[in-house]
Amino acid sequence: MFSLKIPQNLKVSRTAKYHNVLNPDNKYRLSLCVLCGLLLIYNLSVLSCERPEHSRADVALGTVCTVTLFDQGKSSIYNDIFKRISEIENLMSVRIPTSDISRINAAAGIKPVQVHEETFKVIKRAVYYAELCGGAFDPTIGPLVSLWGFYNDNPRIPSQEEIDIVLPLINWRNIELDPETNSVFLTQHNMTLDLGAIAKGYAADESARIAREAGITAAIIDLGGDIMLLGVKKDKSLWKVGLQNPDEDQGFTIGYLQIPESSVVTSGVYERFFIEEGIRYHHIFQPSDGYPVNNGLLSVTIIAKNSMDADALSTAAFVLGYQKGRVLIESLPSVEAVFIFQDYTIRTTTGVNLVITDKSFNLLTTELHRVF
Ligand code: ADP
Ligand code: MG
Repeated sequence: MFSLKIPQNLKVSRTAKYHNVLNPDNKYRLSLCVLCGLLLIYNLSVLSCERPEHSRADVALGTVCTVTLFDQGKSSIYNDIFKRISEIENLMSVRIPTSDISRINAAAGIKPVQVHEETFKVIKRAVYYAELCGGAFDPTIGPLVSLWGFYNDNPRIPSQEEIDIVLPLINWRNIELDPETNSVFLTQHNMTLDLGAIAKGYAADESARIAREAGITAAIIDLGGDIMLLGVKKDKSLWKVGLQNPDEDQGFTIGYLQIPESSVVTSGVYERFFIEEGIRYHHIFQPSDGYPVNNGLLSVTIIAKNSMDADALSTAAFVLGYQKGRVLIESLPSVEAVFIFQDYTIRTTTGVNLVITDKSFNLLTTELHRVF
């Protein structure tokens, strides 16, 4: 756990002091009682008056979620945000047997399942994006993710026969949605939904909503790389967001984006992968052939107003590849993209403000875009 809950830490350290004071020595008993009473009152007052917390991190949605609230980051707001993230995980995780998604999957080919209206809303949005990008993004990808062993963290290369059996199950058109009853039906046996490419974005949007409603004027919400920048910094300058070097460990950046309040989400080859005989196999699949996407891209970063859209679009554009992906992104208002290629070139849509600091990467200009 990466819990950085400051009031709890304070409590722990003061409890330790308290135990020291209780060393047995009779002549100090009275003063110890007074001191203990004072410490107790002090502890209670510390716990009851809310202190600002700079940042809090915890593991949720299968990743490390870090929330930084500026100015008035009270513990209760952090609590509300992390509670919300956990609620969303409990509804939408494919790894939690009681989640709405697991219940839908268990009833595939059998019967429709009534779900929470939020789950319904996210599935509906996932289907919308599946249709928009012609199935490159497909929330019925579950059987492939499972076959390649990414659910049990024991990945392996399946045989072509295994892939061929699973491929017909990947088809978003076989999701039936009933908005009257919030019911979802997967029409084929063994179909499974997987919202891994969109649910984190929804959780980031919900976290931002809670922060906003609590009066927070500036915040960074980072749900394992799905980043939501809220409000305006004190000095009114643009936010700077580091772009992960897709070929390096976490934390190595190739440069940074300068942006106003927005969401920044990346899909890439580096989040979950294994290497066999020098080939990298990662967790984002090409629904048409059942293999990890291999189209010359290392990552796609999307900048958009809303994190759920940015999340779905980063996966969609990554699967579509540069040419089709760029056409899709350019067709959407207020959405921008950064494409990083295996040859260390970078191409962006026209509205991106990107500063490259790692000179091994080469940002191609807008003029060069027209060549493609
Ligand atoms: P990350 O979760 O690493 O930030 P993504 O948002 O791209 O990256 O989501 C990847 C996850 O989405 C995979 O782990 C898998 O659960 C699911 N997924 C993989 N391929 C696809 C696809 N073509 N369409 C929709 N979801 C996918
Ligand atoms: Mg995504």
